Amino acid sequence: MKLNFQNTFARLPQSFFEKVEPTPVIQPSIIAVNDGLAKELGIDPDFLATDEGLAILAGNSIPEGAEPLAMAYAGHQFGGFSPQLGDGRAILLGEIGGKDIQLKGAGPTPFSRRGDGRSALGPVLREYLVSEAMHALGIPTTRALAAVLSGELVLREQPEQGGIFTRVASSHLRIGTAQYFAAQNDIESLKSLVNYAIQRHDPQTSNAFELFQSIISKQAQLVAHWMGIGFIHGVMNTDNMSLSGETIDYGPCAFMDRFNPTQKFSSIDQNGRYAYSNQPGIAQWNLTRLAESLLPLFDEDQEKAVTMAKGELEKFPHLFDEAHLKIFSKKIGLSQNHDPELIQALLDLMASQKTDFTLTFRSLSNSPDSFLFNFEDEAPARDWLARWNAAGTPETSLMKVMNPVYIPRNHRIEEVIAAAKQDNFAPFHELHKALKNPYNEQEGFEKLQQTPAPEEVVCNTFCGT
Ligand code: AMP
Ligand code: MG
Repeated sequence: MKLNFQNTFARLPQSFFEKVEPTPVIQPSIIAVNDGLAKELGIDPDFLATDEGLAILAGNSIPEGAEPLAMAYAGHQFGGFSPQLGDGRAILLGEIGGKDIQLKGAGPTPFSRRGDGRSALGPVLREYLVSEAMHALGIPTTRALAAVLSGELVLREQPEQGGIFTRVASSHLRIGTAQYFAAQNDIESLKSLVNYAIQRHDPQTSNAFELFQSIISKQAQLVAHWMGIGFIHGVMNTDNMSLSGETIDYGPCAFMDRFNPTQKFSSIDQNGRYAYSNQPGIAQWNLTRLAESLLPLFDEDQEKAVTMAKGELEKFPHLFDEAHLKIFSKKIGLSQNHDPELIQALLDLMASQKTDFTLTFRSLSNSPDSFLFNFEDEAPARDWLARWNAAGTPETSLMKVMNPVYIPRNHRIEEVIAAAKQDNFAPFHELHKALKNPYNEQEGFEKLQQTPAPEEVVCNTFCGT
């Protein structure tokens, strides 16, 4: 089968990328192919599972029409600026149907620095499950087209099986892409970037400032969506924030079990910079870095450009609060009656009694008893229920499509990875199946709803590096 590649990114100025081909592996095998996504892209899913398809997904053969490359970008990582990061373990093959097709873990690139350009199996499975879960939950995200075993070992803390992940994205442009050119004072490339981003993501906008406004609004929506399902991105560095408004980079991300607003998981996030409730503030900080990078394009008069940028950035908290309130109002079934205090009272109660975020919200749409069951001390929960009942007639059908039954819980992901390391992919496929339909109870998957037993609780998540 001929894949229909376009290479609009490869047509951008040379400053945007380095051409590089994937490094072949000796004995790859398929773990999963995303049939639905393949079809959406006009690719025959059966083809991807053939030897020819596998060779492409493993980086062993370059499909006709593809022009593989590694993208250049910079980024603030945990607040410190690196002027050159770039795709160290990712290679863009090109675009199909307007979407980037990228191999993650397909070998070193000119941006690999000391890294090996490879991925271990665990992070590949994690990204596959979590990104597809996010999609099924209705949250903008990059997607998973395929996962393969490389058949080779990669050296992490110990030797691990290698994996290659095929990521599909509206684009891989990041805040760090703009920072890369700004740091070099390369205004021409910045202009090309803005034009390209407008073409691909925001054709209704017509200049850098309008594009910036649109990105602010998308990020506010995105982070509010994350908060609505208890998602912690974990590594909101500016190179991991997409200009398209999609969730990107599922390194140490995690869904919360028990609600704790200051929860963090990432082992490298010592200070909790990227903890759950810090996410909107960090998004605004990141957008400020984007504004700084784009200032030369906002207005010739730099003082005026700064004023323009500040004015927009100041709107972020309001945009976020508005989106957050809308989402949580729907979660408690009161889409017409926005009551921030009622919502906050519930969140406070959940935090003080450490109830499970997902189960607490879901149970509210089932029955008062099942809701109360989450709380050790029922009295304040009863009081809250009374307030809630007085606030209006809850729209239970809406609540059911806002409050998932299934999320990719950490302990289940760990279980999937442990089994996969023993060549058992059944738990992976089972979890994936449940997560495809997160808002409906499915027979046989009851255990996937459950909170972890004390000995199953995962305290730390790790980056793919
Ligand atoms: P991340 O933490 O995945 O956002 O990656 C941060 C930077 O490190 C990016 O420039 C990656 O391309 C690079 N990187 C991460 N892992 C590897 C690896 N195994 N080999 C080469 N570069 C890597
Ligand atoms: Mg990254």
